[in-house]
Amino acid sequence: MTYLDMHCHSKNSHDGKLAISELVRIAKEKGVKYLLISDHFDFDLDYGGARSVVPYSSIKPEKLYAEFKAAKAELEEDKKSDLHLLFGIEAAYSDSEKAIKKCQETLEKYPFDCVINSVHSVNGQETYFRNYFFFKSKQRAYGDYLDAVLRSLDAPYDYDVVAHIGYITHGAPYKDKTLRYADFADKFDAILKKIIEKGKALEINCHHDVNPPRDVIERYFALGGRKVTYGGDSHRGEIAARFEEVSAMLKDIGFEYYSVFENRKEILIRIE
Ligand SMILES: [Zn+2]
Ligand SMILES: [Zn+2]
Repeated sequence: MTYLDMHCHSKNSHDGKLAISELVRIAKEKGVKYLLISDHFDFDLDYGGARSVVPYSSIKPEKLYAEFKAAKAELEEDKKSDLHLLFGIEAAYSDSEKAIKKCQETLEKYPFDCVINSVHSVNGQETYFRNYFFFKSKQRAYGDYLDAVLRSLDAPYDYDVVAHIGYITHGAPYKDKTLRYADFADKFDAILKKIIEKGKALEINCHHDVNPPRDVIERYFALGGRKVTYGGDSHRGEIAARFEEVSAMLKDIGFEYYSVFENRKEILIRIE
């Protein structure tokens, strides 16, 4: 089995805990072949767009890149290792023009291997926190989130992967938090068809629950979607933690390959 993880946070993210060199050590121990460091670029934070109850600070790309380069150079000294350490970005989508421009500038400035497009905040509110849900029915809160995901797919910068569709459920206060394909079939179909049409990869994210949920992944497959990535989305070094479970599920649905991206080029890895 070829282990890989295409979504991982270091302590350069406001919520990450470990240095990149520590993540490399863990990945080597686990025999991981592809590891993407994908710290948060929440450009909205600089413009007051993502209102949250915690005063997050924005990332320092220069510092992150310097640390990444040092870890990569150290890894290259180790001739026994076949780990591909990849430089990524989790670009949180925002409707703000300023945030979009800053994202474009950053993407041009650094040699990313892979760009992940994600949605955390909807209409200026971080959905991780309860205040996003105040006075909203589940249908409304989840529906607005899926509309934001659909808009994010038309971001005017190039990206490779669509992250964690279903992130909204984590902070939701509802008794039944489940996000079901059947409850939002039209919205999901619009999203999944656009991902396929644009040739992007759908991330299977394991930060909280598996996202998107299985019924959505099955629909993606039925519509012809074949590009999937595994994203552990670990913040404390739990690299590839649910890789075997997710691989078994994907195989069961019918998927044959994972996509990984190195130097923005897709490499296919057979799902075993
Ligand atoms: Zn995320
Ligand atoms: Zn993440």
